[in-house]
Amino acid sequence: MGPTLPSLVIFNRSSKLGEEKCFEAPFLEITRRDNIDERGRFVEGDMIFPNYLDTFRPTKFDPRWKNAIVVFTIDNSFTEEELEEIGKSFTEISEKTCVRFLERTTERDFVFIQRGVVDSGCWSFVGRVGGKQIINLEPPICIRNGSISHEILHTLGRVHEQSRFDRDSYVSIDYLNVVEGLESNFRKYSMEQRPSYGIPYDYGSIMHYSAYAFARNPEKPTIIPKQIGVDIGQRIALSLRDAQTINRIYSCQPTIY
Ligand SMILES: [Zn+2]
Repeated sequence: MGPTLPSLVIFNRSSKLGEEKCFEAPFLEITRRDNIDERGRFVEGDMIFPNYLDTFRPTKFDPRWKNAIVVFTIDNSFTEEELEEIGKSFTEISEKTCVRFLERTTERDFVFIQRGVVDSGCWSFVGRVGGKQIINLEPPICIRNGSISHEILHTLGRVHEQSRFDRDSYVSIDYLNVVEGLESNFRKYSMEQRPSYGIPYDYGSIMHYSAYAFARNPEKPTIIPKQIGVDIGQRIALSLRDAQTINRIYSCQPTIY
């Protein structure tokens, strides 16, 4: 038997659903970094949509996990330290949202958290796809709890913050500095494709690209916030609005507004 997750992070089958309270996390300090998840080969770097969709369309596809429970299995080749990082993400998401994690026994739909091979990067499917789906985490670069939480939020149905319909009011994109051929990583979705759930734009989201994402000249930003003095692209913790958005998507009770 391989190493196991600390048992406290695994949702207990005997717990009663819906009794846990949602709470609002304190606003988190933000640091900016160029992020590993932005360097991948998939949609906007690290997302894979079900093959019958090219984007997130909640009107046609419900990406949510039933009863807000993510059923998972985990690669037994992760080290104890790596499992601890995964455990931190499970704990953080469980504390800030109504989402819970349940180790799979016979459930049909589940996410396999895979220890990625060299150069495989960090990536996830978006939403519950059906059957087995993967979160890939390449050690050591992706195995920090902030990056893991980012990928789990994709698995829960979130896409990147700067692809919101209203993003042009908040950031400018310098397309001249985007690596040629990768401009599509900066597309926007319509409000129908990607609802905001009533949550305002969030520079501090763990789902926001960094300022230097897909930059041709790595010294120059590709994303310039319109608000002075804000940093974007943190991969430390879910922001308050990240937590609120997940709670809205999953109709967490009691409502937090
Ligand atoms: Zn991502």
